Amino acid sequence: MTTQAQVKKRDWTLHPKAATTQPLVPIKHTLSELTGPVFGHNTVKKMESDLTKNAAKKGKEAIGERMILTGRVTDEANRPVPGALVEIWQTNAAGLYGHKGDQHDAPVDPNFYGTGRCVTDSDGNYRFVTIRPGAYPITRLGNRWRPAHIHYSINGGSFAQRLVTQCYFPGDPLQEADFVFQAVTNKAARDRLIVEYAPEYSVMGFAAGYRFDIVLRGQNATPMEQ
Ligand code: FE
Repeated sequence: MTTQAQVKKRDWTLHPKAATTQPLVPIKHTLSELTGPVFGHNTVKKMESDLTKNAAKKGKEAIGERMILTGRVTDEANRPVPGALVEIWQTNAAGLYGHKGDQHDAPVDPNFYGTGRCVTDSDGNYRFVTIRPGAYPITRLGNRWRPAHIHYSINGGSFAQRLVTQCYFPGDPLQEADFVFQAVTNKAARDRLIVEYAPEYSVMGFAAGYRFDIVLRGQNATPMEQ
């Protein structure tokens, strides 16, 4: 049986504000974390990273505001993670997912499915061509809307380098009341989930560039989806 004192102690250790002020102590990975099987990276084709075309009929493309979405995947020591599998999924420009379960009353884009993947290069960089996703309602919770976001799954060199998260866009008023975004209680950590407009990655006359860097572990880690 749990005593009153034990309950008190446990609550205290789980309290979000009970974080230590001391530097974190790195814990060595176990052998199975480092050598366990990971996702197959070899079958990823180059065209899979272009969501505007990877599900489009011949000569067609997705409708929406095109964007280049790029960034660098690093580990807790700021080292690049080459060969990481980066997968994304998102709604179309009208806020509708490509699966049947999505009942949002919004137009279907027959040339967009909303999934893509690529593998990071030798310096940890990834790059997608996509369209800006739309917001969508969560009607089971009342009149609520999820802000525009793109889901990410990253499989690094081992199971210790696995991350599932979502990126958001600057200046979106829907973030204020979004339960997923606000589940990250630390403002600095929330800010790390917002893509940065990066004109140096724009393709002139074609698509604007945005940057979303990902840190897999450590104190500056990109927050995991709650
Ligand atoms: Fe979503």
